[in-house]
Amino acid sequence: MLRKDKANEERATRTVLVVATLTAVVVASLSPGTALGISRGEVDEACADSQEAYDIYGAARSDFEVASVALDEANAELADAEYQERRIRSAYEARQEDKAELSTRVESQAVELYMQAASGPSMGMVSLSSPSEALTAYEFLRANADESMQSVNDLAAVSSELDRLGITLEAAVGELTTARDQQQEQTAEQESAMTSALGAYDDLSDRCRELQAEYEAEQARLRAEAEERARQRAAAASSGGSGGSGGGSTGPIIGGIICPFTPGRTHFSNSWGAPRSGGRSHKGTDLMAPFDEPIYAVASGTVSTGSSGLGGRTIWLSTSIGSFYYAHLSGFAVGDGAHVSQGDLIAYNGNTGNASGGAPHIHFEIHPGGRGSSAVNPYNAVASVCF
Ligand SMILES: [Zn+2]
Repeated sequence: MLRKDKANEERATRTVLVVATLTAVVVASLSPGTALGISRGEVDEACADSQEAYDIYGAARSDFEVASVALDEANAELADAEYQERRIRSAYEARQEDKAELSTRVESQAVELYMQAASGPSMGMVSLSSPSEALTAYEFLRANADESMQSVNDLAAVSSELDRLGITLEAAVGELTTARDQQQEQTAEQESAMTSALGAYDDLSDRCRELQAEYEAEQARLRAEAEERARQRAAAASSGGSGGSGGGSTGPIIGGIICPFTPGRTHFSNSWGAPRSGGRSHKGTDLMAPFDEPIYAVASGTVSTGSSGLGGRTIWLSTSIGSFYYAHLSGFAVGDGAHVSQGDLIAYNGNTGNASGGAPHIHFEIHPGGRGSSAVNPYNAVASVCF
């Protein structure tokens, strides 16, 4: 039923478009976005493209299914008309044979009558010597074979009616054939569009899966690296001088924490005490990093997610060495109440809350006595692990 041997300009255009789209996707995904590799945004985008391609494929498939049903109907209609035409044609031919046979019979009847008459008293054998007389006699006799002749005439009428019906049906078959061929062509086009859409979806879904896997592998590697750094610092802290008693205007070193970002991916300055809106003074450090940059648990503990006008999306991380506050997050990677290990991915960098419209960063606070206790300047603590 389905044929792939037809091509037209429209389909070629579509193919070119699909190829161009795929090329753009491949080129875009080959160009390195950040030094870090793949961002979650890239993975999400690739998977959204894949979903979109799947929807396009779904639409193409249902178009094709509709066309296939219409083609089945066109084929059935055509087959019906062809069948009718064949029946009429064979009836017509059978009538033609009957007519020929009957004509023969009528003629031989006429000859027989003529022979009988010729041997009778009214027409002697002698008169047969004249062709004109014989012809007259023959015509006379034929004229007397009325009933038979009537049958011949009826047959002729039936034959011409059958012939007329045959011609009408032939025209109908012609039209139905044209309609069927058009439907066949349309169905082939839609099948081709569906095949192209499926190909595009396959490629994009492969891309989505690949990026997802690559992204997860990279996250696992980053976590392992963060853990390794934490181990090294813990070892250095226990062998060298204590790092926990710093204090001073840039804040204490907090032993045992890691950088909230991948070290080297963030920059910040000591802005503790800087004036802020509403007469507030800054009670943290603003760690700048790219939008959606992964954010890690600085120590093992429990996550409490929140939302506020100032902080936007926030996390309080309560640990055995104090509580840590992360604000302006673009999104959470763990749920409220999650228990996390040091180095676990917990959120993504953003500019929610009163940072809206500004450069993405984490407003980071350290409360050594736990949530509710006063904050200390986190600058030294994060600078020692992030730079
Ligand atoms: Zn801040």
